[in-house]
Amino acid sequence: MARERLYLFDTTLRDGAQTNGVDFTLHDKLAIAGMLDELGIDYIEGGYPGANPTDTQFFGEPRPLRSTLTAFGMTRRPGRSTSNDPGLAALLEAKAAAICFVAKSWDYHVRVALECTPEENLASIRDSVRAAKARGREVLLDCEHFFDGYKANPQFALACAKTAYDEGARWVVLCDTNGGALPHEVEDIVGAVVKVIPGSHVGIHAHNDTEQAVANSLAAVRAGARQIQGTLNGLGERCGNANLTSIIPTLKLKAEFADRFDIAVTEAKLRQLAHASHTLDEMLNRAPNRHAPYVGESAFATKAGIHASAIMKDPATYEHVPPETVGNRRKLLVSEQSGKSNVLAELDRIGLKVERDDARIARLLEVVKEREAAGYAYEAADASFELLARRILGKVPDYFDVEKFDVNIEQRDNAVGQRVTVSLAVVKVKVGGETMISAAEGIGPVNALDLALRKDLGKYQGYIKGLELTDYRVRILNGGTEAVTRVLIESRDETGERWTTVGVSPNIIDASFQALMDSIVYKLVRSGAPT
Ligand SMILES: [Zn+2]
Repeated sequence: MARERLYLFDTTLRDGAQTNGVDFTLHDKLAIAGMLDELGIDYIEGGYPGANPTDTQFFGEPRPLRSTLTAFGMTRRPGRSTSNDPGLAALLEAKAAAICFVAKSWDYHVRVALECTPEENLASIRDSVRAAKARGREVLLDCEHFFDGYKANPQFALACAKTAYDEGARWVVLCDTNGGALPHEVEDIVGAVVKVIPGSHVGIHAHNDTEQAVANSLAAVRAGARQIQGTLNGLGERCGNANLTSIIPTLKLKAEFADRFDIAVTEAKLRQLAHASHTLDEMLNRAPNRHAPYVGESAFATKAGIHASAIMKDPATYEHVPPETVGNRRKLLVSEQSGKSNVLAELDRIGLKVERDDARIARLLEVVKEREAAGYAYEAADASFELLARRILGKVPDYFDVEKFDVNIEQRDNAVGQRVTVSLAVVKVKVGGETMISAAEGIGPVNALDLALRKDLGKYQGYIKGLELTDYRVRILNGGTEAVTRVLIESRDETGERWTTVGVSPNIIDASFQALMDSIVYKLVRSGAPT
C-alpha cells in the first residue's frame, strides 16, 4: 500500500521563541534553522518579520535551505486595505517562500479582542491570502483558538478555515492556542473539518497545557490532518508546543504511523535526533531533560539488577524501541540496587575490558555500595563512576596533586561604598616536579576555587582549556547523626560532550572540591593526557 506523505512544520524559532527565558540571536536562529533543515523538517517558521529587529534581519536576505522557510504574521487589520497595512507589507517583503497568517476563528475573540464583525474577519482572511498568493507565496492560515471556537460556534470556525482554503491557501492549520483540548475532542473536530476541507490541506498546532500536545497532534493525524506543527524539545510559551522530538520518532518507529505515512526525516537523520535535541539545549544553556522520551539520558536507563540482566540477554525485554534508532544509548545504572550485570555492562561501555569473574568487580561493587550509603550518587554521576572504576582497576594516572587550598570569604565596602561579598581562593598544585600557586576571585567560594584550580595546571592547561561548568546542584542529606552535603557538577568541553561528577562531605566546599577534581581528571583521562 502506498504511504501517504505527512508534513512536519517547525515553529521553534517563532512560537518556541516565546519560551520564558529564551532569547534567540540572529546567529542562534540561523544555526537552529540549519539544524532543522539538516534533520529533514519540511517547513521552518523563522519568526515574525516586522515585529522585532532580529526577525526582520532573519528574513532580510534569502536563506539557502531545502526546507520551506516560512514567515509568520497577522492577516490585514480590520478596516484597512491590504495595501495600507504596514504589518502585512513587512510580511510580503520577507524573503521567505511561504507565509503563515494567523487569524481569529473564535467568534468571541472577533467580538471582544478584534472588535469587528464576523464578516470583516472573513474578508481580512480572504484578502490576506489573496495578497500573498499574488506575490507567489505558498500560504498557510493558522486558525487561532480553532478548537475552542469550534465548540462555541462551529459554523463560524469552519467558515474561517474554508475561506482560506477556497482562496488557495496550501494549508489550513487548526490551532489549540490555549492548549486545553483533549485527544478525543481533537479527533472528533478534525474529523468534522476534513469533511469540508481535504485532510491533505489540514494541519494541527497543539499546545501542551494538559500535557497532551503530542497526543493531540497524533489524534489529528488519525482523523485526517496531514501537517503537524511543533517545536524541538517542546519549546514554547507556558507549557510549550507539541514536542517534535517525541513526535518524529513515534511517526518513524510506531507501526500505526510508520506503515501509513512517509515523512522527510530519514532513518539516518533520525539517528541524529538526540544530538539535535542536546545541541539546542546547549545553545540555550540549559541542562537537557534527563527524562525526555526517546532522547533523554534516562530514556533507556535501567537501574534494577533483575531488569539489567534481562536486558543483557535481550534488550527488547525492557525497551520499547532500540535506543540507537534515535541516537541515544542504553545505560545500565550502577547503584546500590544494581548487580554485577550492570557493572559489567557499564565497564564494557566505558571500554574497560574485565573478565566476568575478576575479583575486582566484586570489590568495585562493594565500594559503590559503601559510598552510595555515605551519600554519593553514581547513577547521576557517570564520570565519577568511571573514575572510581578505573581507580579500582588501577588505571588512573596521578596527573597532579593539590597540596593545599584555601578559600576566604570577605564582606566589605568596595571603592564606591557598596557592601560586597568577595571570595578568594588560593590553590597550591604540584604538576610533575613543579609546584604552582594560583589565586582567583570568584562570585562565590566554589567559583573562586574552580577558577584558581583551573588557572594553571602547567602542561595540562591545554587539555582543560575548553572545560566549562554548566550545572551545579547541592543537596543536603540527613545521613545518621550529622548532615552531609552532596554536590553534583555537570561539565562540558569544546566538543559538546557533557559529564557529571559528584562529591560528598559535611563541608560544602570540600564536596565541591571533590566534584571539581573528578571533572578535571575525567577530562584528562578522556583526552588521553600523558602522565
Ligand atoms: Zn502557538
